[in-house]
Amino acid sequence: MKHITFFDTFTPDGGPAFEVYENALNLGAGVQWHDAYDAAHSRNVTIVGGLSVGGSVGAVGGWVQGGGHNPLSPSYGLGMIHLLIFNASLKRSATGVDNVLQFAVVTAKGDHITANSYRNSDIFWALRGGGGGTYGIVTSVTYKTRPSVPIIATSFATIINSIDASPSPVVEKLFTEFIRVSPSLSDAGWGGFAGISPGAVGTSLALQLYLISPTISPTQANDSLAPFFSFAQSLAANSSVEDGGRLEIVTSDVTTFDSFFTWQSTFFQNTGLGQVGFSGETGSRLFSREVIEKDYKKVAQTLLPLPGAGYGLVGGGVVNLRDPSSTGLNPTWRKTLVHAVFGNGWQEGANASQIRQAEEVIKVGIAQLHTIAPDSGAYFNEASLFEPNPEFTFFGSHYEKLKSIKKKYDPADLFLVAKGVGSEDWDASLNCRKY
Ligand SMILES: Cc1cc2nc3c(=O)[nH]c(=O)nc-3n(C[C@H](O)[C@H](O)[C@H](O)COP(=O)(O)OP(=O)(O)OC[C@H]3O[C@@H](n4cnc5c(N)ncnc54)[C@H](O)[C@@H]3O)c2cc1C
Repeated sequence: MKHITFFDTFTPDGGPAFEVYENALNLGAGVQWHDAYDAAHSRNVTIVGGLSVGGSVGAVGGWVQGGGHNPLSPSYGLGMIHLLIFNASLKRSATGVDNVLQFAVVTAKGDHITANSYRNSDIFWALRGGGGGTYGIVTSVTYKTRPSVPIIATSFATIINSIDASPSPVVEKLFTEFIRVSPSLSDAGWGGFAGISPGAVGTSLALQLYLISPTISPTQANDSLAPFFSFAQSLAANSSVEDGGRLEIVTSDVTTFDSFFTWQSTFFQNTGLGQVGFSGETGSRLFSREVIEKDYKKVAQTLLPLPGAGYGLVGGGVVNLRDPSSTGLNPTWRKTLVHAVFGNGWQEGANASQIRQAEEVIKVGIAQLHTIAPDSGAYFNEASLFEPNPEFTFFGSHYEKLKSIKKKYDPADLFLVAKGVGSEDWDASLNCRKY
């Protein structure tokens, strides 16, 4: 199940002969993103997948079936733009889910089927965003790729030295400004992540940015970041330990990498940071441009005190151009600019009461994020099990269609995951049907 096969040209089964994709990559179910990145790099193409230390996220499982975001998403969609030789014209399309050409699936009945735009197109639609572990066992995915190009990256990191308990007002000012300018950074072509810590007594990390773009020039990159960098410099110059904390800018640079592969190897795959994973839970919310533009202060104030807060500039751009009904993915993603996420952990060996306390923080945090954008949703792959309305929050108006496709391919509910499609018919343990 670790096979990786290149197709110089690929036509989906049952598709017209003129529909040809160059450099398609077929990945078996056991392939992790580090395998796929290495393979794509050896052919000088880019494939956009999950990012984690060691490249551990699966390339065929939950990532793509739940959506699949990446810092290149604003430029390439929730996966990527591809070159499609279609009727001799060159077209662009977006997005993990928009980047899939074909799935091989074993259904609950044990049938081996192909799912693409021409064969079993209903389950093809559902598998692209309707959640992993729900419709069948995917044994392989064929992805589009695109030629490798240099990317521009920024590293920006700050520390805060404070004598007061968090959150530091200086960090709040810095984070609020970053959120305020984030729509324009997205428009300039940037995508990526901001990690934020509120500050604590002593010296601690404050805001860190990892932003990349394959579409802008170094000059445009510097120009687009200059206002925020000068804001940060002025804030740092005028900050003091006594007056809310002394801010220090540790790194602030714009660098060109020869490819997305090199960038992700440097900061994720080959960092050698060891074991991925910890005991904890996450909460999150998807925010549209309108919400960020109108309520950036509230977003900052709400997110900042939450533990492990991250601000993912992984929507916007091409993600928002794709027809919301083109895949099973929650349609709210097509209006999303930002995936805001936080997490709370506990030590190994924690007792039930300590775990419940940690979970309370998640419950309170998701309720706060919800008030900012009540009509939005959350990214199924990085969200809380305590979401009060998971059908709508994770799948939006696609829920009923996803459920009917699940019933067609898995009438006995062999495949069930917590808060996934169809799970509401079962008790919390997913062992007993409710009726
Ligand atoms: C360290 C880390 C980094 C991450 N980075 C990103 C990121 O950059 N972008 C992003 O979008 N998300 C990211 N995520 C979230 C990630 O997308 C989800 O955790 C996702 O569910 C992982 O899928 P998996 O197949 O690797 O994991 P698993 O836990 O193995 O599977 C997740 C779900 O998918 C199902 N599944 C797995 N394989 C199959 C299959 N072959 N057929 C059918 N169902 C299957 C499982 O049953 C399960 O329900 C990250 C998560 C972690 C822990």
